Amino acid sequence: MLFKTLSDYYEKLSKTQSRIEMVNILSEMFKQAAKGEISKLIYMTQGQLAPNFIGIEFGVADKIMEEAIMIATGYNKEEVESEYHKQGDLGEATENLIKSSKLARMSSKKYDVSDVYGSMYKIATISGKGSKEIKIRMLAELIAASDPIEAKYIVKYPLNSLRLGVGDETILEALSLMSTSERSNKSILDRSYNICSDLGEIGEIVLEGGIEAAKNMKVSLFKPIRPALAERLPTASEILNKMGGKCAVEQKYDGFRCQVHKDGNKVKLYSRRLEETTSMMPDIVKAVQDSIKAEKVIFEGEALAYNESTEEFLPFQETIQRKRKYGINEKIKELPLHLMAFDIMYLEGEDLLNKPYETRRELLEKAITGSDVISPSTRIITDSPKEFEEFFENSVENGLEGIVAKDLRSHYIAGARKFSWIKMKRSYRGELSDTLDLVIIGYYRGKGSRAELQFGGLLCAVYNKKRDMFETITKLGTGFTEDQMRKLQELLTKIKVDSKPARVDSLIEPDFWVYPKYVVTVKADEITESPMHTCGRSMQPDGTEAGYALRFPRLVGEEAIRADKSPEDATDTSEVIEMFSQQKKVSLSNK
Ligand code: AMP
Repeated sequence: MLFKTLSDYYEKLSKTQSRIEMVNILSEMFKQAAKGEISKLIYMTQGQLAPNFIGIEFGVADKIMEEAIMIATGYNKEEVESEYHKQGDLGEATENLIKSSKLARMSSKKYDVSDVYGSMYKIATISGKGSKEIKIRMLAELIAASDPIEAKYIVKYPLNSLRLGVGDETILEALSLMSTSERSNKSILDRSYNICSDLGEIGEIVLEGGIEAAKNMKVSLFKPIRPALAERLPTASEILNKMGGKCAVEQKYDGFRCQVHKDGNKVKLYSRRLEETTSMMPDIVKAVQDSIKAEKVIFEGEALAYNESTEEFLPFQETIQRKRKYGINEKIKELPLHLMAFDIMYLEGEDLLNKPYETRRELLEKAITGSDVISPSTRIITDSPKEFEEFFENSVENGLEGIVAKDLRSHYIAGARKFSWIKMKRSYRGELSDTLDLVIIGYYRGKGSRAELQFGGLLCAVYNKKRDMFETITKLGTGFTEDQMRKLQELLTKIKVDSKPARVDSLIEPDFWVYPKYVVTVKADEITESPMHTCGRSMQPDGTEAGYALRFPRLVGEEAIRADKSPEDATDTSEVIEMFSQQKKVSLSNK
């Protein structure tokens, strides 16, 4: 496919606000792709070069790009920067500069998608002496050979400013439509995606062997499995009821979720967002190499800081200090990690996802013997609400977050929030409700004392996975420190967009829309029904429509932004509905 064709599709995508239309455009685009090309199209459209777990960053700063634009267009620094200022985006600036340029274009070479991808890959991975000059030269060559629209996307892509609004669910639905003319076969591809986490690979498999080939995909080493997620319920009896009267109750540890892949001596670790975290935790890697006898295994647990002398787990604020690129070895001594393993998904070539929890647990316990650093999560199996409650209270007294109950018969349900795992946290008790992770979709100008900061608050949304849409749930104006406001203002101006972004469902118009990118953690007193918000919006008995909103929302956490969560990891609409119905039950039982 010519890069020109891809750019024309990007133009169409950026002009639509309709998700259905987006899926149609993507499906048309995928139909035109050749084998070996569709994966590149998929990565590029999401502004990436590879799946998250490969972790290739572009490393192209504005300054490098500006130099490339100057060489390619003949404009000087002042001219490039002045247009950049006007447009607020270097891609748009380049498009305008080329359109109004009187210079003849330097090259008439027509690049195809693979050429551009290949150059971008090289630009992202080249390092060492002279690499900056090579990057500039390669970018300039690409821009020089492009028409204004192509150049816009050549510039936007490595600057991470494509912002086409295409999420994972959108791609999967488009692949289903491309391959079977039906959107609904997406559910088959969901499963494949949940076990390999690589949309590009799925694209290639579907293009080559159709949807049938995707059905046969198996778990494999060094392709992280999308994590199983837990539902929530507030009491032991409700959880026991839901689980058929008897279940396992495991302590819930608050640290980094850690998926371990081991093949002989080769070990890699992946985070909840499936980014590779191997280099961050050499102590865990060593423990796996030294103590795990299995040759080939995938298992997971929670890594958290541990005080060896007092044998106590430390709170998340301590563990988070291990999240660093430098000075890791010094921190290991101060804050050693312990891995509390709670599941196993693959062992010596066998995919264990469809084995019941109890079988997996037995295999897990056998596989991880003999280490001081790795142990199985502490648990009981019970059918007694009293024993359940006591275990919970005990865990909380020991400084833990609560418990995760597990259905003894359940499979490992990758990538989904199901009642086979149910969490119960100490925060469900007393006045505090659970926190919500919300996506920022807009913000407000500062008024009064905040005028100087130009920041007055956020418009926040939950993610509705079923609809693949972001639905508003609250305006957020409190809980910010001055530093946080400054940081948010700085981050958000960079992702401002002119109109409501695709996949955003909102009845409210903020002062500025932003591309859904950042997640914040919010606490509130209560969930209420509201005609203003689109979260879970549905027809009421009186004929009006209402959604859900938060009462007294406030930002929590020192870091304003949750770097470990992507927009699609935000609280789901179904969780809000569940929390609302639990709240009703609690308030009724308190009457
Ligand atoms: P939350 O982040 O509140 O949705 O809770 C789910 C998270 O708890 C998982 O993603 C794990 O990282 C963590 N966790 C801690 N202990 C366990 C456990 N025993 N079983 C499953 N998940 C656990």
